[in-house]
Amino acid sequence: MLSFVIGGRGAGFGAGGAAAALGLPAAPEAAAGAAPAGSAGLAGGTGTRFGFAGGTGTRFGAAMAPPYGSPFGQQALRRSAPSVPSAARVGAVTDTQAPEASAPIEFRSDVVVELVRSSAHDSDVLFAARVSTQGEQTLEEAQHDPAVTEKRDRGLINYLMRDRHGSPFEHNSMTFYVQAPIFVFREFMRHRIASYNEESGRYREMRPVFYVPGADRNLVQVGKPGAYDFVPGEPEMTALVDEEARAVCTQAYQAYQRMLAAGIAREVARIVLPLNLYSSMYVTMNARALMNFLSLRTKRQDSHFPSFPQREIEMVAEKMESLWEELMPLTAGAFGANGRVAP
Ligand SMILES: Cc1cc2nc3c(=O)[nH]c(=O)nc-3n(C[C@H](O)[C@H](O)[C@H](O)COP(=O)(O)OP(=O)(O)OC[C@H]3O[C@@H](n4cnc5c(N)ncnc54)[C@H](O)[C@@H]3O)c2cc1C
Repeated sequence: MLSFVIGGRGAGFGAGGAAAALGLPAAPEAAAGAAPAGSAGLAGGTGTRFGFAGGTGTRFGAAMAPPYGSPFGQQALRRSAPSVPSAARVGAVTDTQAPEASAPIEFRSDVVVELVRSSAHDSDVLFAARVSTQGEQTLEEAQHDPAVTEKRDRGLINYLMRDRHGSPFEHNSMTFYVQAPIFVFREFMRHRIASYNEESGRYREMRPVFYVPGADRNLVQVGKPGAYDFVPGEPEMTALVDEEARAVCTQAYQAYQRMLAAGIAREVARIVLPLNLYSSMYVTMNARALMNFLSLRTKRQDSHFPSFPQREIEMVAEKMESLWEELMPLTAGAFGANGRVAP
């Protein structure tokens, strides 16, 4: 990861009072009623980027009951932070919050994906599919019948995937926390079969954290649109991208600050901020929608329908897939074995 802090004073994002940084009020009323600005924010948020609960690298309550959980397994909630509705947990930043004129500008090259909560097991797929033939007995059978072997379960899931019987893959839910540049969110939110809540640039001051491509990011496009590839650039190209991005972001953020200091509303001042500004969101999906997302937002040789996504959304997709594979290994395996075609 490339991470720099320039200008300003002290530690960057998430340090000290920045626990309130991730103001995500569900509505203005929620912001007004939750907690005072500056003291609100997510549990354990200090010292982490965006002041997010538990910090990066914490896996919140991935349900892992062996072998693949109980049917409609008990909802697995965060282990390291209290389970409270997100509108309350994310704290509040009111319209009266003072701008932080000297916040240091940070440049990063990573994305963050955390599994916040889930109720997602291969057994959820199995019992939903078996209701076709077994009716109400299916839940009990899936829990207790010793004849329900992994081989049989694997075969059924593979059959459903291969023949694109998709609805059994909908009886589950995963909520992810994502930090990524806004240009990634623009692409992400085209996926309509999902639920989203993103931090607000109207209710809180945007933090000066910007994306710059890492040194390993391919820069040069080759091939034709629709089937192109990207190859490394010259070192001078990497330096140019880095230099230009930093200059523009610094200038833009300073302009943003000048407008805030002059009393201009956040929703107006933010118009000068570039798309590589980091944002954060919760997204909730079921496995069927996730597979559709993964099929389109990852580039794999073994895909039946190759896709050519922007690398930065692919970085998010890869992390989501890793988390999902742990929850639903048979489903994830069948997805891969059948050409990564969403059922
Ligand atoms: C490599 C790549 C390049 C892209 N380039 C562009 C671009 O240049 N311009 C652009 O505008 N977009 C672009 N997109 C976005 C793309 O067109 C889709 O909007 C996006 O991938 C979401 O896919 P989806 O509709 O399958 O997902 P979701 O919205 O999650 O939908 C999932 C599935 O539900 C069904 N569904 C959802 N809504 C409807 C509906 N209203 N009617 C019927 N069925 C529905 C469909 O089966 C759909 O596949 C690009 C996407 C990719 C992956």
